[in-house]
Amino acid sequence: MTNMKPMTMGQQFGRRSWAEPWKIKMVEPIKMSSRPDRERAIQEAGYNTFLLRSEDVYIDLLTDSGTSAMSDRQWAGMMLGDEAYAGSKNFYNLESAVKKYYGYKHLVPTHQGRGAEHLISQALIKPGHVIPGNMYFTTTRLHQELAGGKFVDVIIDAAHDPLNMHPFKGNIDLDKLETLIKQVGADKIPYVSLAGTVNMAGGQPVSMENVKAVRALCDRHGIRLYLDATRMAENAWFIQQREEGYLDKKIADIVKEFCSFTDGAWMSAKKDNLVNIGGWLAMNHDDLFEATSNLVVIYEGLHTYGGMAGRDMEALAIGIEESLQDDHMNSRIGQVLYLGELLTDWGIPIVHPVGGHAIFLDAKVIYEHIPQSAFPAQTLAAQLYLDSGIRSMERGVVSAGRDAVTGDHRYPKLELVRLTIPRRVYTQAHMDVVAEAVKAVYDERKNVKGLKMVFEPKYLRFFQARFAPV
Ligand SMILES: *Cc1c(COP(=O)(O)O)cnc(C)c1O
Repeated sequence: MTNMKPMTMGQQFGRRSWAEPWKIKMVEPIKMSSRPDRERAIQEAGYNTFLLRSEDVYIDLLTDSGTSAMSDRQWAGMMLGDEAYAGSKNFYNLESAVKKYYGYKHLVPTHQGRGAEHLISQALIKPGHVIPGNMYFTTTRLHQELAGGKFVDVIIDAAHDPLNMHPFKGNIDLDKLETLIKQVGADKIPYVSLAGTVNMAGGQPVSMENVKAVRALCDRHGIRLYLDATRMAENAWFIQQREEGYLDKKIADIVKEFCSFTDGAWMSAKKDNLVNIGGWLAMNHDDLFEATSNLVVIYEGLHTYGGMAGRDMEALAIGIEESLQDDHMNSRIGQVLYLGELLTDWGIPIVHPVGGHAIFLDAKVIYEHIPQSAFPAQTLAAQLYLDSGIRSMERGVVSAGRDAVTGDHRYPKLELVRLTIPRRVYTQAHMDVVAEAVKAVYDERKNVKGLKMVFEPKYLRFFQARFAPV
């Protein structure tokens, strides 16, 4: 008699299984719906998953933004809110957490990431300026444009190829950056806008070697370097796993080292930092601190709360510390990789290598018969919802918007649907359900037609645009 034991996923994939470094203390029921319910709901939502009601959603993978589960320590911290208008003690706790873990000298709190993007853009960008960066992010680029600047993508070419296995597809192409500096002149570049990891490329990381080289190039030309630190903790995990010499370094130390090559950062704390609302801007230069800690009182709130309640700042200070623990990051990205491995085994076209916060389905390949002008990724997100009540997000031609000068659609090379995994929220069984739903939609791909846009808002159209079947 052979002694056959069932294999765990980890054994099948040739590594030990991970499990979450927490147990569940409180649950929130979610409901499954019927196909006719979902047909009605998606039609009412104009085939835009942003316009669905969350109670009509079974597994919500729209975004990892503000959707994290807080820990019991964070909830306890909420009770310690010092709701003073000025000088709340929670602000000082937050300030020391940012200093301790990210290493910057000054902190300006904001209500969320785009509040910080607004302040830094208004303070540093003048009409005619050019801001190089490693692929655009929607709100980042819009704030740079609204301040009169023009964003120029200087990411390496590999980032635009969903099958290229480069371990650091978020890297800046140093030749592209240097050519741009020569073309427009360093005095027209207020700063380089570096994101770790790169959301729009599929959550792809930047290497430590790259940030060091970008820093050196910026120094030669007297240009500042600011970091979009929204998913920097996840970026650090990839450095730990993939870059030589980092395997036995702690995530927290890698983050601090990386940040030391930059002059400051903006943060959507709704991502890495494990809170439901919040953000910050931090910097080393005194002049930027003076300018933005003045601007913040116009747009966000006093410079010691910036749109957050005292309790929000306390939960954020604790969230920062928890977000940089190695155990947390192993299970956070382990869960994303688990889903990615299932889909890869089943032959579903996704962006490789799998990034830190999400799986990106390649809608251009899945719906090769639907032209980009009929919104294949928007269509795929709607089909996934119709099949199983799973909510995902378009990251393709709708998200890319229109060219600020010509007014035409921007047609990005990548036409993707993002399945974004909230932190500490769903179980491995939920991931199995998601994988099976994607497979079912994939098997039906030949029978699907595209969409037409019937309403288009002026700004960030992907949030509010409405569609109808062609
Ligand atoms: C979410 C996000 C932002 C904007 O932050 P909000 O908190 O949503 O305003 C900026 N950059 C990146 C990379 C993001 O993912």
